Amino acid sequence: MSTMTENKKAHAHRNNGGNTHSSSRRAAIQAIQSREPVNASVDYTRNTVSEIYGSNVFNRHIMRTMLPKQVYKAVLRCLDHGERLDANHADIVANAMKDWAISKGCSHFTHWFMPMTGLTAEKHDSFLVSGGDEGLAILEFSGKVLIQGEPDASSFPSGGIRSTFEARGYTGWDPTSPAFIMESTNGKTLCIPTVFCSFSGQALDKKTPLLRSLEAINKQATRMLHLLGNKDVKRVICTVGPEQEYFLIDEAFYLQRPDLINSGRALFGAKPPKGQEMEDHYWGSIKERVLAYMMETENELYKLGVPVKTRHNEVAPAQFEVAPVFESSNVATDHNMVLMEVFRKTALKHGLRCLFHEKPFSGVNGSGKHNNWSMADDEGNNLLEPGKTPESNTQFIVVLTAVIRAVNRYAKLVRASVAFAGNDHRLGANEAPPAIISIFLGDKLTELVQGIIKGKNDDGKLSGRTIDFGVSTLPSLARDDSDRNRTSPFAFTGNKFEFRAVGSSQSIAWPNTILNAIVAESLDYMATEIEKLTKSGTDLHKAVEQVVKETLKQNERILFNGDNYSQDWHDEAEKRGLPNLKSTIEALPALTEDESKKLFAKYGILQEDELDSRYNIMLEGFCKTINVEALLTANIATTMILPAALEYQTRVATTIVQTKQAVSGINLTSQEGMLREVAEKVNKLRENIELLESLRHSSKEDEHDDLYAHAKFYQHKVIPAMNDVRTIADELELIVDDALWPLPKFREMLYIY
Ligand code: ADP
Ligand code: MG
Repeated sequence: MSTMTENKKAHAHRNNGGNTHSSSRRAAIQAIQSREPVNASVDYTRNTVSEIYGSNVFNRHIMRTMLPKQVYKAVLRCLDHGERLDANHADIVANAMKDWAISKGCSHFTHWFMPMTGLTAEKHDSFLVSGGDEGLAILEFSGKVLIQGEPDASSFPSGGIRSTFEARGYTGWDPTSPAFIMESTNGKTLCIPTVFCSFSGQALDKKTPLLRSLEAINKQATRMLHLLGNKDVKRVICTVGPEQEYFLIDEAFYLQRPDLINSGRALFGAKPPKGQEMEDHYWGSIKERVLAYMMETENELYKLGVPVKTRHNEVAPAQFEVAPVFESSNVATDHNMVLMEVFRKTALKHGLRCLFHEKPFSGVNGSGKHNNWSMADDEGNNLLEPGKTPESNTQFIVVLTAVIRAVNRYAKLVRASVAFAGNDHRLGANEAPPAIISIFLGDKLTELVQGIIKGKNDDGKLSGRTIDFGVSTLPSLARDDSDRNRTSPFAFTGNKFEFRAVGSSQSIAWPNTILNAIVAESLDYMATEIEKLTKSGTDLHKAVEQVVKETLKQNERILFNGDNYSQDWHDEAEKRGLPNLKSTIEALPALTEDESKKLFAKYGILQEDELDSRYNIMLEGFCKTINVEALLTANIATTMILPAALEYQTRVATTIVQTKQAVSGINLTSQEGMLREVAEKVNKLRENIELLESLRHSSKEDEHDDLYAHAKFYQHKVIPAMNDVRTIADELELIVDDALWPLPKFREMLYIY
């Protein structure tokens, strides 16, 4: 051990104070002082990245080497063209998967799925089927078991879809997302991505609607490309690259914060004297201990074939970001869930806790998950790449127009896709991005769009088979030009859209389901309009131009390049009639509107009961989250903060009394003022706690059998009451003796690690 560390320890030891409440805080700081970066198994000199990458994935390469040619071809047809894999083939795949998994050291397998909790679920079974006649283990895994599972899943939220008598849910293999091996301390488990449905086929998960939405957008985008003359295209997929923000806190602090443990965010805590105003954390040099952690997460993720690429310090102290290379939407969704899991788990090994909550610490930035989104054809061509030739420009402009129309027409749905309690601290609060959905295009694209709307191209620039939209500026559309605006919730960033309102903790399945659904509808609409015109004799190119122009004109209001935080924009957006749905309870009802029901039903993404169930689950989720926070707030305030403040009050009072006894006639006005201030705040704290408690008691569900009324009650009554408790508690934090304060403070948690 280095002398440096010894010194630190000695120093820390001297600092260990008396028997006060804060001795645990001091002990935490001591523990952290002596921490070293954790050495993990990362050594790229022994195993290069390319050797490690995907080694725990049953990927195409493995399948090609393990499967008979015919079966492998059938698998490829399934993966690339959406064909069904028949039962015989599935048996062979299952067997290969089992052999591979066992050779890698797996004893168990699990269907891995995404119930409506927003997390992932797994129930492990061993490959063992019997002891066999000779008492020897027989390991088996059939196609039937691969394809379908029947977890007893009655405790997952179904939002009323599934009555308890038919509680059983079914998991079904999703061959488009590769199976992978999760390593744990004493063994390995084969994880098979699956969908989760009810007996009658209703989606009980987040994955099924996503897959359905991908089918819808594939169908409509392929149709559109064919219509535009791009006849070779067989399939269109969505590509997604989610940038993930998170906080890291040392576990010695974390374990002393019941609020972080139970609700994922600090329900108390005064703003630290130093916040992020120096902007010294963003892209700052990464601390050794954190870098060691990041590298181990990357190592684990490489094994799982998750292409993590970027790591850096984020804006807030103790905040970081990781970004992968984009992948197909389905796989990217699974990989983001895996990533969060690996980040959580690995943190434990490093004595850290990884927080994905949208707002763990008020007073500094929250965390989001920028959802980079585009579409690509089966050749890998990005449909949102502006391109250099007029033909591809036409395609680009049509797709761009479809997205603009989709986001404008369904702005409320886009907003609803990111609505939940945690994200309310970001959207609609004074932080990026606002709850008003708008699109940032950048100057050059805006100029182009305005040109089309104003009909600059009406002068018949049509030449031969191509349409010239006056896009000569496009090839010079440098990516940097379009990525300056960090305040926009939906920004075009060179060759993709970046949906920035997504919360850091949420699964990206739902936001992407909605994006895909609304863009599919827009492509459908535009293709239908174009077809109508060509059927009545209009030249295709003229028809495309007309439909693009009209569509842009009708949906122009959604475009905004300016500062989305400014009051001017809020006023302007209101004039334009853009919805500004500040909270979850304002945003969610969009899911119950007829237009939404029609949209989801038309493209087979969610039937009315499935959509209803999601609305119910989300409302319930909101109520439950706030309820837990309210309970915790009352609990911590009563049993930790109040006693500390009272103790301080007693000490000040005792001091005053004793001083007066000792020094006759002394004037202690100032100290009495101090005592008065503490006593009054303690009083107020107690009152506010009582108010919160009485509200919570009156919020019992039977008094509000209407779920929405219940949620409104939480929003308008319980949350303000909780905030009132916190306000006083945070004021007390700033006056009570530091040695008495029981909760680690922000100035410690965010800086000492
Ligand atoms: P920027 O830093 O300007 O946002 P990056 O190139 O770093 O741009 O990309 C950020 C994220 O966007 C990465 O996860 C990246 O893989 C993803 N991305 C890039 N191109 C696409 C695309 N065509 N579709 C979806 N995501 C993409
Ligand atoms: Mg970005």
